Amino acid sequence: MNYKSVFIIVLLTVLFIRCSNNNTDEIVNLGAAKKVVQNYYESSKYERDCKEIIDKAIDHINGLTLPEKPTVIFDIDETSLANYQHIKKIDFGYYYDIWLEWLKQSDAVAIPQTKRFYDFLLTKNINVVFISGRNDDSYQATLKNLVDQGYTKFDTVIVRNKNERNLSASEFKLDKRKELTQKGFNIIANIGDQMSDFYGGYSGYVIKLPNYIYLID
Ligand SMILES: [Mg+2]
Repeated sequence: MNYKSVFIIVLLTVLFIRCSNNNTDEIVNLGAAKKVVQNYYESSKYERDCKEIIDKAIDHINGLTLPEKPTVIFDIDETSLANYQHIKKIDFGYYYDIWLEWLKQSDAVAIPQTKRFYDFLLTKNINVVFISGRNDDSYQATLKNLVDQGYTKFDTVIVRNKNERNLSASEFKLDKRKELTQKGFNIIANIGDQMSDFYGGYSGYVIKLPNYIYLID
């Protein structure tokens, strides 16, 4: 073996070790990650981030000349209502039956900054439509929860029926926004916590709230 071959082997070994170490560095311990997320939600950081986003949204809407039938789309979970207390109680896990049981209790609480935005829209006579990835098995509980938390005036609350359960969240929500647009609703803004709340357009001004708990495609 000549020097050149030895050099190449040493170089490849160093690169391999570096790559391995980098991969290891990227993995975060789950217990530690939960603590970081918990701190974000339970300190003032989450509230502060939401306030900044809503302040900008209100400025934007105030600057608009409103069209006929102006409408804002609201997502529900982690946008209008917070499920944090339940998700923390089950140690940041997810299992559909337990989730459904929670939804049926109608105990989620309003996210204060979203509620502030909602109240502002009502003063401008802007329509509110809720589009949620929730299934129709929790429709009545969802209505009760929204009303109990002060979301008392809205055009409609749209959830998935049995035929829509296999659609991705983004497909389902886009279909509903298209239908609303065809019916004459002018969507001027859309507020959600997942990028799948906005994919495909028909959204107007996008208001993306933070969610460090889960991701939905
Ligand atoms: Mg959501």
